[in-house]
Amino acid sequence: VNSAVDSLRSLFGTEQVLTAADALPFERDWRGQFPGRALAVLRPRSSAELQAMVRASHPLPLIPQGGNTGLVGGSTADASGGELIVSLARLNRVRRLDRLDLQISAEAGCVLATLQQAAAAEGLLLPLSMASEGSCTLGGNLATNAGGTQVLRWGNARELCLGLELVLADGSLLNDLDGLRKDHRGLNLRDLFIGSEGLLGFITAAVMKLVPAPRARVAAWVGLGSMEAVIELLLAAREQLGEQLSGFELMNAEVQALLGSELPVPAATWAVLLELSSSVDAAALGDALAKLLAPSGDAVITQSQAQFERLWALRESIPERQTRAGGNLKHDISLPLSRMADFLAAVEPALQRLVPGLRPQVFGHLGDGNLHFNLAPPAGMSVVQLRAQWGEALTRCVFDSVAAQGGSFSAEHGIGRLRRDELARSLDAERLAWMRRVKRLFDPANRLNPGRVLD
Ligand code: FAD
Ligand code: ZN
Repeated sequence: VNSAVDSLRSLFGTEQVLTAADALPFERDWRGQFPGRALAVLRPRSSAELQAMVRASHPLPLIPQGGNTGLVGGSTADASGGELIVSLARLNRVRRLDRLDLQISAEAGCVLATLQQAAAAEGLLLPLSMASEGSCTLGGNLATNAGGTQVLRWGNARELCLGLELVLADGSLLNDLDGLRKDHRGLNLRDLFIGSEGLLGFITAAVMKLVPAPRARVAAWVGLGSMEAVIELLLAAREQLGEQLSGFELMNAEVQALLGSELPVPAATWAVLLELSSSVDAAALGDALAKLLAPSGDAVITQSQAQFERLWALRESIPERQTRAGGNLKHDISLPLSRMADFLAAVEPALQRLVPGLRPQVFGHLGDGNLHFNLAPPAGMSVVQLRAQWGEALTRCVFDSVAAQGGSFSAEHGIGRLRRDELARSLDAERLAWMRRVKRLFDPANRLNPGRVLD
């Protein structure tokens, strides 16, 4: 096996094939939950070099890695020491940005925030945004069909993608980068790769939609007493504000407690962060928000860009603060909005019956029906103990309650290693069988992310 690494090094150079201490930063995921040992880390500088690496490393297993911010153990090697991590981070060139075509063509290793800045410099917006945007990459965003905080208005990564370039498991290059808004030339293969978590090929570049940057953005933070009131506000916001509504984020009382004295209005059963954006002026947006929120409880409406950014920074700080507060059991679920209140009413008491004093830290993109339904231990219990003793039962309870309301146990974070067995358990046999057939078609030797997503 070492001779395989030696021959890769002699073919591509030591800078392109890292081992030992140099490989360490790539072997540990963002939260350190899925550590493993890689045989080596391959770092191609171009699609052509990646093609050569895929061929030269046959038949070793390959693990595509972008920013390594994924939350389901999909981007790191297992403990065997026999897998090659392939980091796309050095494919990081912006190839083209066009104001008339309203699109950006960039390589997979570009960091999302860098692309947002490139768009902003031209008065445009790449409407994909999430708390990990300073580290996650375009390729990772597409491989996980990432969501985030602007899905309500602009859709998931899939809806923003106009083209892909791929390196497949046999080392061939698949080019679909024309980026046309309308293009019906046969089957749309691109959609198979978006959200495929590296099972079918390497995304090496993509064309993404841009939109004119909104001239005005205003946010409001509102405290509300019940889920019914939250849903009523969402309905009213959609009706009164139409496409100006670009964010509707939810936080329960436990999550608000994590924000402490920085909370902009007194803690309530639920807090909502609403965002409006538009090409009309901010004053008009502020007036529309004030009218919408008049019947609600405590609310602040941002009066300046700085205040707007402060509210969003608070929202984006939640994952970090949860980690610092000791951690929790994470679930990334989605439900029809029409079933949300029923789901919460059923699941909360069921969880308390299992572990009295359990502290659900619930937040997320309510406008999309997506909650990060995280469970922190009762006072005096560690998260390690909670996971060991109750983890399976609690997760079972959450997922069964989700399924009972027609929802999904995986909304935007993917399947990876963490949710593979749940996928096999919960999907009907026919859907799973077709997924396995597609996997075998593109990757007959099962080299790409083996044992992730599908067994
Ligand atoms: P990685 O973690 O490196 O990889 C993720 C998966 O994609 C792996 O299976 C990997 O093998 C595969 N992959 C990576 N690059 C490629 C490629 N070029 N070709 C083929 N396969 C590839 N996600 C959301 O959707 N919404 C959120 O709001 C959100 N918030 C987050 C907040 C924090 C603080 C953190 C840490 C994560 C958050 N995430 C969120 C999860 C994560 O950031 C996203 O899934 C992101 O899209 C992953 O990008 P990445 O480049 O880090 O991919
Ligand atoms: Zn999220």
